[in-house]
Amino acid sequence: MATSKIEWTDKTWNPVTGCTKQSEGCRNCYAEVMACRLKGMHKPKYQNGFALTLHPEDLDEPKKWRAKSMVFVCSMGDLFHKDVPFEFVDKVMQTIAETPQHRYQILTKRAERMAEYFATRKAPANAWLGVTVEEERTKFRMDYLRQIPATVHFLSCEPLLSDLGEMNLEGIEWVIVGGESGVKARPMQEAWVLNIKRQANAAKVPFFFKQWGTWSKDGVKSNKHVNGKLLEGKVCQELPKEKGGKQ
Ligand code: SF4
Repeated sequence: MATSKIEWTDKTWNPVTGCTKQSEGCRNCYAEVMACRLKGMHKPKYQNGFALTLHPEDLDEPKKWRAKSMVFVCSMGDLFHKDVPFEFVDKVMQTIAETPQHRYQILTKRAERMAEYFATRKAPANAWLGVTVEEERTKFRMDYLRQIPATVHFLSCEPLLSDLGEMNLEGIEWVIVGGESGVKARPMQEAWVLNIKRQANAAKVPFFFKQWGTWSKDGVKSNKHVNGKLLEGKVCQELPKEKGGKQ
């Protein structure tokens, strides 16, 4: 476990690490860079670097956390990668179900496989399910997400790489948007962000703008801390309401 610097979560839990590239959003994968760095530091968990690795020894980790937490599942990989057996995903879901004090955010770029998994299983009530939609051609993932009964369905439009055009936000309870960070980061246009925000506001879907990233809203490459997280001069960081009214 690690206390997370990700603004929309408290902790990360990685019963699976490592992955392979799936779409354009993966090009400058942060998890890959981190995994290779941790391998170089001889961290036992990362002895395989970014090769997909299951960690059954970490399956019970959240049971040791007393404080109610928002937990990002598999920040260092993708739980629905084809090489993660459904039997292992079952064990992850079992821990989630047995720790109702926590909320779990499960984000994937393998929306088809997540839908296949939940076609025969019920998602735990404390699991929020999300898909990455980083450019227009990945919007199809939203259709898979919508099929799955879940307490919260969310979109992570990060790194946002194109205008997403018109979006069907039916069945979506939260939208997160952010620009890319790092030396190879690709720029994000303000108009793309505002297009998503306008549609989220119209559909009454909470909208969370995380950050500009390495490129400023004016298209200048600088530093993510300098570029900050103001959108039209304001912090826009709404959180979803779970079905049933709790937050
Ligand atoms: S799906 Fe996520 S973890 Fe896997 S390569 Fe892409 S960005 Fe990295």
